[in-house]
Amino acid sequence: MMKKVPELFGSMVFNEAVMKERLPKDTYKALKCTIRQGTALDAQIAGVVANAMKDWAIEKGATHFTHWFQPMTGITAEKHDSFISPCSDGTVIMEFSGKELIKGEPDASSFPSGGLRATFEARGYTAWDPTSYAFIKDDTLCIPTAFCSYTGEILDKKTPLLRSMEAISKQACRVLRLFGKDVARVTTTVGPEQEYFLIDKEDYKKRPDLILTGRTLFGAMPPKGQELEDHYFGTIRPRVKAFMEDLDEELWKLGICAKTEHNEVAPCQHEMAPIFATANIATDHNQLSMEIMKKVADRHGFVCLLHEKPFDGVNGSGKHNNWSISTDKGENLLDPGVTPAQNAQFLLFLTAVIKAVDDYQDLLRISVASAGNDHRLGANEAPPAIVSMYVGDELAGVIDSLVSGADYKAAGKRSMDIGVSVLPTIPQDNSDRNRTSPFAFTGNKFEFRMPGSSFNIACTNIMLNTAVADSLMAFADELEKAEDFDAALASLIKRELSAHQRILFNGNGYSAEWPIEAEKRGLLNLRSTPEAVVHYTDEKNVALFARHGVYTLSEMKSRQEITMEEYVKVINIEALTSLDMLKKQIIPACIGYSKELAETVAVKKSIGVSAPVEAAKVQELTDMTAELCGLTDALEAALAGATEDVTACGMYDHETVIPAMEAARKLADALELKVAKKAWPVPTYADLLFYV
Ligand code: ADP
Ligand code: MG
Repeated sequence: MMKKVPELFGSMVFNEAVMKERLPKDTYKALKCTIRQGTALDAQIAGVVANAMKDWAIEKGATHFTHWFQPMTGITAEKHDSFISPCSDGTVIMEFSGKELIKGEPDASSFPSGGLRATFEARGYTAWDPTSYAFIKDDTLCIPTAFCSYTGEILDKKTPLLRSMEAISKQACRVLRLFGKDVARVTTTVGPEQEYFLIDKEDYKKRPDLILTGRTLFGAMPPKGQELEDHYFGTIRPRVKAFMEDLDEELWKLGICAKTEHNEVAPCQHEMAPIFATANIATDHNQLSMEIMKKVADRHGFVCLLHEKPFDGVNGSGKHNNWSISTDKGENLLDPGVTPAQNAQFLLFLTAVIKAVDDYQDLLRISVASAGNDHRLGANEAPPAIVSMYVGDELAGVIDSLVSGADYKAAGKRSMDIGVSVLPTIPQDNSDRNRTSPFAFTGNKFEFRMPGSSFNIACTNIMLNTAVADSLMAFADELEKAEDFDAALASLIKRELSAHQRILFNGNGYSAEWPIEAEKRGLLNLRSTPEAVVHYTDEKNVALFARHGVYTLSEMKSRQEITMEEYVKVINIEALTSLDMLKKQIIPACIGYSKELAETVAVKKSIGVSAPVEAAKVQELTDMTAELCGLTDALEAALAGATEDVTACGMYDHETVIPAMEAARKLADALELKVAKKAWPVPTYADLLFYV
């Protein structure tokens, strides 16, 4: 029986309440101050905090501690040390010093560092991020940390995220000051909706492709797919329900506000959405959630697939990044106001986001680029690879009238003049949804739908925060100089909305006309990862990150290289796995089955019975298998043609290796439909998707 939720919630987290209870008053105050101001932690205070943390952790059964960080691979990393410290009399005591809390030294050499490898020594250090609480997982006290090289280059995803949050806070505060508001800090808030598949572990174990690549590389369409739409919000299988309850409980213990659990569109696809938090904590929590999902699934005889496209022919999995900005006083800056003055402020922030998304379409696209996500974007189920924004018809009407200078006349709404004191009343009901838009305004936040299910959302939020910080900086620069603020504000909003209106698209993003229209508008259409990633270090992007102190050029180059390298490695593993399955499982199965049929023909003939149907099948299978062998050789040859240079190789993989893989798959899938079920070497799509 589950403990009471309030009791359970956060029970494994060294949170506010625990700090207050366990730390001396002065220490608690000093720590709170550090957290609020983002300053460095005093060594003496760290000692007291570390000791309290250790005692608390030991009471909860912990024996080890680790600095928990997010290297550039996108997963999280840990290096466990025990609290044990030997005494001279042969016994041990449990110790944890302030120094150990503040700083750790993992060996950085085995993490990808891109071009940075040449310029930094193998060791790096981790530094506690006191804005994210320590927690206990698997009897280990985990300390969320940032990860840097000794020469100062950042080697993780948390540090740039914190920097980008700092950047947007600084610029947003400047803008708010112009509206007469004294705000010390502004934070970006994020609520990531996480999609995933659950499949039976026994089936999984029989599929080398799932084991090695996280997705099926072969598999004919089952007789039933997602066409009946009976899974979405349908009843949850009892086994899955038990998993979800267990998952909620585990997440709650870690202070993660898991709120919604439901089925998704594809068979055996589900979603978990937490209540939003600051971008930093939401990122940590999402990383943890993905890990916990996998562990809990295992306990229930499932495997949780976080790949963007585990199955062809049914929807893939994404992660909707709900994003907003709010002040330390809790004012959501993307919430349309009710008074004209509030509207003016809202419109300025809205304009900042619109400008940011238009100016940095490439960075947003790059932040979601991977071999896995390439299967989703533009595949008529997820947003297209073209970045555009949807603001709802009503808001679009307001923007149109601001741009054209015409009166805003919405049905039943009062008309308005253009001028700050009489800016329009923004309609409160922005509930109309456009599911095909990559970047949709949903009432008081934006929902970026391009991230893939396995992504670390830090990347996307680094781009968003920094790009919006940049718009706000330009606006503040201009408005701070204005003599007549109201007039300057109105003209700025009008000018910027006119300049960036091309990014707004309220139509169907899946339609065949949209890419043509988007091209006319001059929007980018970066279809694949290799096409997108090369733009990362474009001059304007390098300048952006330098302006806000988020990344240096070498840090960006290393990230560009790592993304491309990962793409190349993934395609290589997929191609090798395809070859392996073709040669060792699929082709032998086809040969074996046709031999069985051939023997049937021979036996029947020997007793004077003709077997034309079987004979024809033998011929057909033999021909198709021969063709499949040819395609297998072609794939092998394609793979051998890959070049050393990572950028060239990425493009080559995209243009040559992937099509060769797809050609072989197509024929193998056709063969699957012609071979007896008992002779097919791996579980079929029907087995995988419709387990009981
Ligand atoms: P959907 O209809 O897309 O499922 P929901 O209303 O369930 O939308 O919300 C999706 C996510 O958006 C949730 O994680 C929620 O906490 C988050 N969210 C709500 N408000 C904000 C906000 N101001 N900033 C960031 N995320 C938010
Ligand atoms: Mg959503």
